[in-house]
Amino acid sequence: MVVTGSNGKEESTDVLKSTQSVIKLALDKLGYSTEVYELMKEPLRMLTVRIPVRMDDDTIKIFTGFRAQHNDSVGPTKGGVRFHPNVTENEVKALSIWMSLKAGIVDLPYGGGKGGIICDPRIMSFRELERLSRGYVRSISQIVGPTKDIPAPDVFTNSQIMAWMMDEYSRIKEFDSPGFITGKPIVLGGSHGRETATAKGVTICIREAAKKKNIPIENARIVIQGFGNAGSYLAKFMYDAGAKVIGISDAYGALHDPNGLDISYLLDRRDSFGTVTKLFKETITNKELLELDCDILVPAAIENQITKENVNNIKAKIVVEAANGPTTLEATKELNKRDILLVPDVLASAGGVTVSYFEWVQNNQGYYWNEEEVEKKLEKVMSTSFENVYRVSTTRKVDMRLAAYMVGVRKMAEASRFRGWI
Ligand code: GLU
Repeated sequence: MVVTGSNGKEESTDVLKSTQSVIKLALDKLGYSTEVYELMKEPLRMLTVRIPVRMDDDTIKIFTGFRAQHNDSVGPTKGGVRFHPNVTENEVKALSIWMSLKAGIVDLPYGGGKGGIICDPRIMSFRELERLSRGYVRSISQIVGPTKDIPAPDVFTNSQIMAWMMDEYSRIKEFDSPGFITGKPIVLGGSHGRETATAKGVTICIREAAKKKNIPIENARIVIQGFGNAGSYLAKFMYDAGAKVIGISDAYGALHDPNGLDISYLLDRRDSFGTVTKLFKETITNKELLELDCDILVPAAIENQITKENVNNIKAKIVVEAANGPTTLEATKELNKRDILLVPDVLASAGGVTVSYFEWVQNNQGYYWNEEEVEKKLEKVMSTSFENVYRVSTTRKVDMRLAAYMVGVRKMAEASRFRGWI
């Protein structure tokens, strides 16, 4: 099995470098020239903005934000906005490349985009967050729009933030623009099923991966790192499907019960940032959580969680990446060696952008679908995409990450060629 990346001894936690090295491998495998790689290794456009915000104590704070547009050969760019203290320019670039790959894998008429603001929304007031969200939209309004680049939620952003951003954009442009952003509240043109879409997509990937490994979902032991939008709904769906969720975590710690946690109890008590472990005395660390004895491990938090330090202690038979970039390339290589089936982020987490696309289509046509229609369409897209990537992985004898990249870059490379860019 050809293993992706990992050409040196040192482990790279630079997500941009890692994704570039897998893009290179994927393009080589598909027989594309180095010019194609040169085009795709960085976003076509990267805007850095500084946003002055009046804080509640009347001081002015200047926040730094980014918007990256990776490649718009297939269609407008699309991707979320992250509010997090650790946001960096390179991370936003990598995240925009991953969005291009996701759009290619689930076959949407988009390229990838991504935004981020260096801030900690956990210590900001509601009104400070509103002013920051509106300020960000004013700063990037020239390069975004319903047919240019369509933002969405990501880590620590939600439907309320999307609503403020949509309102600000509509005021600037002087017309109602629901299609400018996705992940909105339903009353403002949001789609049924968007809130749960990422978790639904991950659930479908878990089901398909478990079939390949002959693991019944009933009573399968699942560990989920992260209890935000993806992790919390995923815990519920797995619990409803009869699996045993034996571990969950947030940024402060983790909970473990080998007999299965009471997920409804935890869901009722989590705050809007997915924090719940603070309520418990007996906790374990995130490190211990990842190494628990289980059948399926789902990192659903942030980057670089499974590394060469802990990969040999991972006991799961399947790892499904609900977060973006949770496994380093060195760790990917080790998991493959041990025949642990890894479903990569660009496939597993593509349910969110898929239903974002449905939301945008509904906004454009002004006609809205019910939850059942959305779920049926999502089911079809995710199961077909899983099968596609799995087939490429087996026929081309490459691991699932490289297979997903091969599927993901192809449409973008073809579109760029037809346009005469390469
Ligand atoms: N932020 C999500 C992701 O990383 C969703 C993006 C979208 O809906 O456009 O896939």
